[in-house]
Amino acid sequence: MEVKTSLLDNMIGVGDMVLLEPLSEESFINNLKKRFDHSEIYTYIGSVVVSINPYRSLPIYSPEKVEEYRNRNFYELSPHIFALSDEAYRSLRDQDKDQCILITGESGAGKTEASKLVMSYVAAVCGKGAEVNQVKEQLLQSNPVLEAFGNAKTVRNDNSSRFGKYMDIEFDFKGDPLGGVISNYLLEKSRVVKQPRGERNFHIFYQILSGATEDMLNKLKLQRDFSRYNYLSLDSSRVNGVDDAVNFRTVRNAMQIVGFMDHETQSIFEVIAAVLKLGNIEFKPESRVNGLDESKIKDKNEICELTGIDQSVLERAFSFRTLEAKQEKVSTTLNVAQAYYARDALAKNLYSRLFSWLVTRINESIKVIFLYKVMGVLDIYGFEIFEDNSFEQFIINYCNEKLQQIFIELTLKEEQEEYIREDIEWTHIEYFNNAIICDLIENTGILAMLDEECLRPGTVTDDTFLEKLNQVCATHQHFESRMSKCSRFLNDTSLPHSCFRIQHYAGKVMYQVEGFVDKNNDLLYRDLSQAMWKANHSLIKALFPEGNPAKINLKRPPTAGSQFKASVATLMKNLQTKNPNYIRCIKPNDKKAAHIFSDALVCHQVRYLGLLENVRVRRAGYAFRQPYELCLERYKMLCKQTWPHWRGPLFKLEDLRKQRLEDLATLIQKIYRGWKYRTRFLLMKKSQIVIA
Ligand code: ADP
Ligand code: MG
Repeated sequence: MEVKTSLLDNMIGVGDMVLLEPLSEESFINNLKKRFDHSEIYTYIGSVVVSINPYRSLPIYSPEKVEEYRNRNFYELSPHIFALSDEAYRSLRDQDKDQCILITGESGAGKTEASKLVMSYVAAVCGKGAEVNQVKEQLLQSNPVLEAFGNAKTVRNDNSSRFGKYMDIEFDFKGDPLGGVISNYLLEKSRVVKQPRGERNFHIFYQILSGATEDMLNKLKLQRDFSRYNYLSLDSSRVNGVDDAVNFRTVRNAMQIVGFMDHETQSIFEVIAAVLKLGNIEFKPESRVNGLDESKIKDKNEICELTGIDQSVLERAFSFRTLEAKQEKVSTTLNVAQAYYARDALAKNLYSRLFSWLVTRINESIKVIFLYKVMGVLDIYGFEIFEDNSFEQFIINYCNEKLQQIFIELTLKEEQEEYIREDIEWTHIEYFNNAIICDLIENTGILAMLDEECLRPGTVTDDTFLEKLNQVCATHQHFESRMSKCSRFLNDTSLPHSCFRIQHYAGKVMYQVEGFVDKNNDLLYRDLSQAMWKANHSLIKALFPEGNPAKINLKRPPTAGSQFKASVATLMKNLQTKNPNYIRCIKPNDKKAAHIFSDALVCHQVRYLGLLENVRVRRAGYAFRQPYELCLERYKMLCKQTWPHWRGPLFKLEDLRKQRLEDLATLIQKIYRGWKYRTRFLLMKKSQIVIA
């Protein structure tokens, strides 16, 4: 049988796992490895692209490569992310199907790079012309801007996305890009004030200090030396192979292209400088007559001069806290620890609100009034297991559970259910469905408990939250803790009392409960938001609308967890209305190094991503499925009964289903001769034609 050499080549392994013989975990991994060793980082599972991070630059993304993949059949050339991008784009342009590109994988697996490759491919092949080119440039240049403010060096990845991003690229009826909309998901703002060992703060801080001119630094009242700033960690302030100064110029240039005016850029950098300066504010105790200590700012700080915040208002906001209830105002003093807490809360809020504002501002530049078709690209933070995992990891991992759910729903569950629905003989293929873990986290589970605790009157601490979890989740298969009496883990000393462990689809993660309540509450003392609102700085003022005394709202703002849950739910709904294209990214080693393929590490990812099950369903299933109408329209010329009109009085669809398609079937089969996994032809009984 003739089979495309690009897909089945013994030297470099098979390009589509569906063709792998025999299929086992071992042969699957070996095939990936063989290909990786030959710089073939992409492999298909049917239409899913598996991508292994090469950790070195490969000559496979040139304009010539773009031309090679342009308008070519998906299986014609060797596997490539461009083939998937082309397929998605053509399906959008020619069949009017909204698309989404779902990129998943753990931190450092290559998701962000993949999302940029998809975007640049689409930009390269879609319309030309000055106006279209400007839109493309703006869309592409939004990446360096958001990366500067939202990415940081972590132990897993030197350019780790610390926010989730979903970008809809919007096209006109010809398939030319008109603009887009970016949605961002929960920035890891705790990084602003503290970074784990070996990690950095967000890139932009280092970029400004390294790349700004002397004059600009003077205006921002900043000094070049990182070590002057408490919020910039010292042990890893430089990243190998990264030139912060050069990147600063790239980012400024990108900001200009995206449409930021000079005064806006200046304001943005002033906020960045303000955050650094906040971090340097120190407090000292001052005794009061009532015997309590009151916190006072130690030295005068330049933040006020820089941003037009009133010095006395700020000082007061770091010494007192006003509680407002219906008619009353009660003022309590802050001690030094509380003042530091307030300072950090303000810095985190200032930065994360600036980030959201940037996204809104970029959206203004690229917004579209009439749109026809949409391609969404999802690049969200990958699954994370650190030594110390906190609320942020919990949220990130929850998001990854939801994405895995979508993959399961659409590729493993829905596909199998479809065969059953269509009365096609089918032997069920087992897979792990992580719905049970999503349930543990969202519905009646951990996030709900956390919210309940946060909203409960009385003393609420991380421990009371953990106690509650223990009561409610103790018997859940995927929840582990030592606190509850009936716990199966009473003797598990690897699980400290202050932690709980979740068995995620991608592995067990132990979460430190400390900080959960606080981070979920995400409260900023009103005195501080009022001080910000009073600033003589239009951007800062705009970031704290609730500080306007005329708009006092006694209602609690929604918690961080519930906001995130709601935005993830909206995202999932949105994705489900589009035709999904999957890129499953795999990290070949933990060293960020080229040429190293760790079998064990890859095997772990292959397992939890459910890739083998994916191949099994694909192999047993039907590779090509189409509704009757579309198939008839496409192939009507092949059969005298359907040419030139298959619609019309002569041919009722019902008739065609019953008899005439037999002819058509034989013809279509001829076209697909030679495709190993498309040799059988079958008519689905209910709604679809299947070529298998
Ligand atoms: P993720 O978003 O999954 O955390 P990234 O996309 O940021 O991971 O990738 C991490 C690093 O790996 C990148 O900064 C880059 O150095 C390298 N990398 C990823 N994909 C590729 C690729 N296709 N070619 C070359 N290097 C890559
Ligand atoms: Mg990323």
